[in-house]
Amino acid sequence: GSSVETLEFQAETRQLLRLVIHSIYSNKDIFLRELISNASDALDKLRLESLTDPGLTEVDTADLHISLETDKDARTLTVRDNGIGMSRDDLVELIGTIAKSGTAGLMEKIRQSKDAATAESLIGQFGVGFYSAFMVADKVTVRTRRAGTDTDTGTQWESDGEGSYTVQTVDGLPVGTAVTLHLKPADSEDDLADYLSESKIRQIVKQYSDFIRWPIRMAGERTGEDGSAEAGADTLNSMKALWARPRAEVTQDEYNEFYKQISHDWLDPAETIHMRAEGTFEYEALLFLPSQAPFDLFSQDTKRGVQLYVKRVFIMDDCEALMPNYLRFVKGVVDAHDLSLNISREILQHDRQIRGVRRRLVKKVLGAIKNMQANDAERYTKFWAQFGRVLKEGLIEDTDNTEALLELVSAASTHDPEKTTTLREYVGRMKDGQEAIYYLTGETRATVENSPHMEALAAKGYEVLILTDPVDEVWADRVPAFDGHPLRSIAKGQVDLDEPAEGDRSAEQARRDEEYAALLPWLTTTLSEHVKEVRLSSRLTTSAACIVGDTHDMTPTLEKMYRAMGQ
Ligand code: ADP
Ligand code: MG
Repeated sequence: GSSVETLEFQAETRQLLRLVIHSIYSNKDIFLRELISNASDALDKLRLESLTDPGLTEVDTADLHISLETDKDARTLTVRDNGIGMSRDDLVELIGTIAKSGTAGLMEKIRQSKDAATAESLIGQFGVGFYSAFMVADKVTVRTRRAGTDTDTGTQWESDGEGSYTVQTVDGLPVGTAVTLHLKPADSEDDLADYLSESKIRQIVKQYSDFIRWPIRMAGERTGEDGSAEAGADTLNSMKALWARPRAEVTQDEYNEFYKQISHDWLDPAETIHMRAEGTFEYEALLFLPSQAPFDLFSQDTKRGVQLYVKRVFIMDDCEALMPNYLRFVKGVVDAHDLSLNISREILQHDRQIRGVRRRLVKKVLGAIKNMQANDAERYTKFWAQFGRVLKEGLIEDTDNTEALLELVSAASTHDPEKTTTLREYVGRMKDGQEAIYYLTGETRATVENSPHMEALAAKGYEVLILTDPVDEVWADRVPAFDGHPLRSIAKGQVDLDEPAEGDRSAEQARRDEEYAALLPWLTTTLSEHVKEVRLSSRLTTSAACIVGDTHDMTPTLEKMYRAMGQ
């Protein structure tokens, strides 16, 4: 019959709904993403089940799609799909109750949370899904019929999201589900009528659901001359989830187009990385290394370029949990299969599996750069000129990958004024008995080359790396060694170019010490404002004196850099 039955929401559902209605979310647009995602799941299910369930052979699956319908007079927005649909029991079970485990505990935490932001992040963890409709609607009507059931078994579910809902059997519904939102009246903050505007809907779909792989159509508004819908013209989403397609089936042109769309870059990427991880935590990743650095690479609030999707649904831009800061220039998409659509940044940061994904992606990116270095020296030189500086930040931030990053470093050196060298090449040229990799930092190549510190090294024929980037001071000082050879600044402390140890100083040195015994304390006192100590040195060959830092002092360039930064 068609009698109306009123049912109570489960207690937890009621609490969750109250939180949703009293707007825990700052971003209301996401309700559409949630409903489209449910519709997309329903289409997936029907397609899959129709392959195996003999009861569904009669169901038409030729034109599975999602359609969005607006009615400005009635102030309603409907999300319709011709997917699997729900039976009356499904509705009561799936929509009326929260079956997820740990609900009670979570509700308790939410009740105890001190502020709205904490509550929002907790609820985000849980995922409000269908209930997010109540952020914008004061009444929601679901009309649905399960695929493979008779035409008189459709059900209508309706609720204002307060304490209860109604269900009734309805005759003649098509297979699938239509969720109709009766938008709340406009208040001072939001005019929800925006959700009736085609351009607003288009924008939200583009932003959050572009890669849903079923067509999302705008219905009603546009019809052809003869009254029929203009096929294809109204599809709002591009449906191009390139990352979900097998690598062999995607052309480089397609990758490049996609890269340009997500990066707003004009140039083709330097490298494309496309991978799929299977097993306990499945995901697909499509990453790009740009060929040119963005202008704001070093500005305070530059964004990381990796977007997170969950099963084709856009979740967030700038996903810092997936890419370390020093790889902020990497662009692309990671699509994880087993995350909640409402996963928050905080949760992601602490998720063990996400940390695993990040480790793997970093290795992939560094591997791709290494390949470029090995196979295309010219392209690599250009790449390093654009991104070397930011990669070197990794030598400070990411101690897990020090070796891999050191392999990538390209530096000027006294070996060849025209060409840069890698540390590996430097080590290959080390003299017999040379233990350390020597470097000197400074503002320009010329100042470094003319530094008095160079003299002793030049006399020994030792190669010196010429590091002129402010960040060089920091990493070169922190990195203990490359390939077993310590990195040593020739401007700091005692560079032991086989100088005799304290214990067995030569008679010659003893004689010199005596000769200058009076001069050194006098110089030290006279220059006390400028230097800590004046020492005799065997380092210099032609200059009379040079200034040396303590091993743990900041070098002059670094001091200047910090001063410039106002510290
Ligand atoms: P989730 O999608 O995370 O399961 P939701 O609250 O979004 O949570 O949806 C709850 C359930 O309701 C879904 O798992 C699904 O079984 C059912 N459902 C929601 N929307 C639809 C739909 N359009 N078609 C079929 N089933 C749906
Ligand atoms: Mg859902």
